[in-house]
Amino acid sequence: MGDHTELFERAAREAARYRATVAQRPVRPAEPKTGFAMPLNEKSLPPGRVLDELIEAAEGGLTASVGPRFFGFVFGGSLPVATAADMMTAAWDQNAFTAIASAAAVAAEEAAGAWLKDLLGIPATASVGFVTGAQGANTVGLAAARHHLLAEAGWDVERDGLYGAPRLPILAGEERHATIDRSLRLLGFGTGILETVPAGPNGAIDVDALARTLNGPAIVVLQAGNVNTGACDDLRQACEVIHAHGGWAHVDGAFGLWAAANPATRHLVDGVELADSWGCDGHKWLNIPYDNGFAFCAKPGVHMAAVAYTASYLLGAGLGEAADLTLESSRRARGFTAWAALRQLGREGVAELVERCCRLARRFADELSRAGFEVANDVVLNQVLVRHEDDAATDRLIEAIQRDGTCWMGGTTWRGHRYMRISVSNADTTESDVDMSVGAIKRLALGSV
Ligand SMILES: *Cc1c(COP(=O)(O)O)cnc(C)c1O
Repeated sequence: MGDHTELFERAAREAARYRATVAQRPVRPAEPKTGFAMPLNEKSLPPGRVLDELIEAAEGGLTASVGPRFFGFVFGGSLPVATAADMMTAAWDQNAFTAIASAAAVAAEEAAGAWLKDLLGIPATASVGFVTGAQGANTVGLAAARHHLLAEAGWDVERDGLYGAPRLPILAGEERHATIDRSLRLLGFGTGILETVPAGPNGAIDVDALARTLNGPAIVVLQAGNVNTGACDDLRQACEVIHAHGGWAHVDGAFGLWAAANPATRHLVDGVELADSWGCDGHKWLNIPYDNGFAFCAKPGVHMAAVAYTASYLLGAGLGEAADLTLESSRRARGFTAWAALRQLGREGVAELVERCCRLARRFADELSRAGFEVANDVVLNQVLVRHEDDAATDRLIEAIQRDGTCWMGGTTWRGHRYMRISVSNADTTESDVDMSVGAIKRLALGSV
């Protein structure tokens, strides 16, 4: 097999060098240049040379989103212990399909899954599948909802599909995440079936409007953490009204479910335990590497009925194991990084991470409104919407910030106007990173009025 010490040590050294210097890099190169495109070589090459080439080829195209001043989308970074655990995940190359494929991979997911349920306020009896992200988790949750409500209506959707099935109403708030629509497409519902429920000023679903719309069992997609404002739906009231009508409540909590892990923000997701399924990300606010998300379901039997499959050669499948809870068969062992991050942080460390990001988001909001910018949202969590003079000036400012390289923010349209969208979700971000970024925004704003 050979000795790979030199190769692996070189990779680890390069990883450490990158992470030690990432805060000094322009956050995103203004003119990304990569060196990958070349004709396929005829002859094999030594691995060490290829590793060097890989690092050089990627260098000019890397986004320093693992660094402390990337505030775009809701990315999150990667805790060093989780990165190290991911290196071991790659080295072990375990298939997390079943315990027969890897006892360690499945046991790590079970242990991390139990901790996650505890932290996120999800019942301990719920099932959890380790998926690629909230897109995957929402798809699993909605597949479970589809199975359950159609079974109650006397229809076997796994066997007979949706042609000729009883029509299931599907409702979601107008400020739902766009991935919900894709999940509905993939599940064969189509997006046209969606009944959109109005949202309040900060983007949370209007529960009274939801109650007025419901008139029987429906799939309802709720949200913890709106991508623009961070707003969370009133999960308690919404779940109560959905269940009174015999429906299924799915919570898209890609990042917002982490509010439950911090005593100071837990009230935002009060009633979270009442839902039927939940989607959450690990690679965002928990700061573990891509890709990692969690699909929880209050009814493990429904979860499995919706996504499990079996074949005669697949020993162990069909027993409520890893493969029965996700959309993939063979897949990466995602439990190792989640376990390592949670073990390092502990309950207090997770709470502190969430609280710190919220505090830094408020610091952004306070400093920028003091400097004369409009902050459009009620900063309840880690998301801030900031506006310059008008739409055009806001877009010019965002572009100038992205070119400048001190920090990186994206833009968004919220209630008809353009905003700079700031997400504080990286474990390495400090007050001085916020101050440096606010300084850059103020400096660049002068040139973009
Ligand atoms: C990011 C996000 C998603 C999609 O998650 P992925 O990790 O990109 O699959 C879904 N919903 C919300 C609210 C999100 O923030």
